[in-house]
Amino acid sequence: MFPERLVAGYRSFLGERFPRERSRFARLAEAGQKPEVMVIGCCDSRVSPEVIFDASPGELFVVRNVANLVPPYAPDGDYHGTSAALEFGVQALKVKHIVVLGHARCGGIQAFAEGAAPLSTGDFIRKWMTMIAPAAERLGPKHGNGEDEDYIRRLERAAIEQSLNNLMTFPYVADRVASGELALHGAYFGVASGVLLVRDPHSGTFVPADVPAGGG
Ligand SMILES: [Zn+2]
Repeated sequence: MFPERLVAGYRSFLGERFPRERSRFARLAEAGQKPEVMVIGCCDSRVSPEVIFDASPGELFVVRNVANLVPPYAPDGDYHGTSAALEFGVQALKVKHIVVLGHARCGGIQAFAEGAAPLSTGDFIRKWMTMIAPAAERLGPKHGNGEDEDYIRRLERAAIEQSLNNLMTFPYVADRVASGELALHGAYFGVASGVLLVRDPHSGTFVPADVPAGGG
């Protein structure tokens, strides 16, 4: 049976949000989507880009995968879901911004850091997460064998860096960045705090995206 929770949620959407945004949906159906921002986010159910950025339909072109990773450009005939979305976002939609949205307590990053056992014989997660090995190498070894919150946090941010680097291996991304038509950004969402950090492209550090008025 289709999940009750989804039927109830849809009923609420149909009764409240849809009538309110009916003209927007109609316009989008007619003219097609023209989002200016692409977000590469994690599958994690707590880190929904549309919720965090309070976005309406048509505003964000989103691809989500385990640990919000961008693989390096590899035109090798394999199945590349994230690269396919990237190709469409950049080449067809001509988005002006790509945001790699990382987050705290990422299960994928933790699995990599702890060398977690495979969840199935396919072991897709381990293979997928080996992509951040260069980032982990740059960070150096973690301290001790147990839980190392600080290390995981640094690795989560280093992985964002890695994805930004990998984005630049796509020729059409590099071209559009060079011409100023496309900008790449890193961001990091604190699930418990709700704080969004944005990567400063000059220093490579993550700073709060916004501070309360009068605050510092
Ligand atoms: Zn995650």
